[in-house]
Amino acid sequence: MNTSEYIRLENEYGAANYKPLDVILIRGKGIWVWDVDGNKYMDCLAAYSAVNQGHCHPVILKAMMDQAEKLTLTSRAFRNDQLPFLYEELCKLTNSHKVLPMNSGAEAVETAIKCVRKWGYEVKGVEKDKAEIIVCADNFHGRTLAIVGFSTDENARANFGPFAPGFKTIPFGDADALDETITENTVAFLVEPIQGEAGVIIPPAGYLKRVREICTEKNVILILDEIQTGLGRTGALLAEEHEGIEADLTLIGKALSGGFYPVSAVLSNREVLEILKPGQHGSTFGGNPLACSIARTALKILIDENMIENSREMGEYFLSELKKIKNRQIKDVRGRGLMIAIEFHDGTEGGARAVAEKLKVLGILCKETHTYTIRFAPPLVIKKDEVDWALKRIRQVLDNK
Ligand SMILES: *Cc1c(COP(=O)(O)O)cnc(C)c1O
Repeated sequence: MNTSEYIRLENEYGAANYKPLDVILIRGKGIWVWDVDGNKYMDCLAAYSAVNQGHCHPVILKAMMDQAEKLTLTSRAFRNDQLPFLYEELCKLTNSHKVLPMNSGAEAVETAIKCVRKWGYEVKGVEKDKAEIIVCADNFHGRTLAIVGFSTDENARANFGPFAPGFKTIPFGDADALDETITENTVAFLVEPIQGEAGVIIPPAGYLKRVREICTEKNVILILDEIQTGLGRTGALLAEEHEGIEADLTLIGKALSGGFYPVSAVLSNREVLEILKPGQHGSTFGGNPLACSIARTALKILIDENMIENSREMGEYFLSELKKIKNRQIKDVRGRGLMIAIEFHDGTEGGARAVAEKLKVLGILCKETHTYTIRFAPPLVIKKDEVDWALKRIRQVLDNK
């Protein structure tokens, strides 16, 4: 079958809730992927940072195969021999007290919302059904109903209502707005350290530090959604480290499995997770031995193979070189670690999608976020000569245009 036949089949039988680039991938290794016609591409999206460790990492693959032969799913009705180790390793690595395992990122977000509400009523003393959670404009926290209900992206929320009440929106990067919006009913502030889907929006320096102070002072749980920024993407294990703070609840997912399997987790520094008693929350697949074995290995190689350090070093180099590109349409080049974006001026012909299409022809896969921003976020195993390979092609498309 050729590319157009695959596309025809997909379009005929599949829901059209995505608009993918027309490339049919059949194989991946490290930062590289191959399509059905034998073309090779550098993956500069890395499945929205779910494959930080690179495609089909052999060590994770082996852990997955070994575990799959032994035991895959017990449900949490019984214990398994992998979960205690994932708990311990995650807590030690991230300096957390407790862990709750789920599958998708959105489920980790939902879990956090449930926990902080319950904490609000039972510990903080908020009046029944009055709990408020503050979120930021242009957030992305997933696709469930509660979550899209507090999205400010009309396309993501229009006509999916009625939505759950109890959320208030403030601008991202504005700590004063947080301070002013908190009331006695506020139980939590949910925020991404860097807004990924909004287009790699980096808040002003000192923002998270100030947010931490405000939340501590006013007894509000700080929830950091590190599902995209976490696990090395920004050149630190967690992006909170850039400002030397610790969230009360940290949400991770995506690269927690290196792309092999959906695994997410809620990490807790304060005892918010202890609010949950048996029967009050759960997931059939959450914490299953296959997921735990994969996640343990994905975390281990992130450290053992110096991927976090490499993300910082390669990210700095990539960003500084991109900033040298001369192009009248470029409005901003920004990033941290290997989470990098180029934003074009409004009205640029074809938008960022046209740039993504041109890069695809030259062997680089990346995707626009919104209309005028393009993101570069390759797996964290990229080497300097490979960054140079990408830069050469990006310059070819953008320089002196
Ligand atoms: C991807 C993402 C999510 C949702 O994760 P899913 O696994 O797609 O449910 C939540 N928050 C952020 C910041 C993300 O990037």
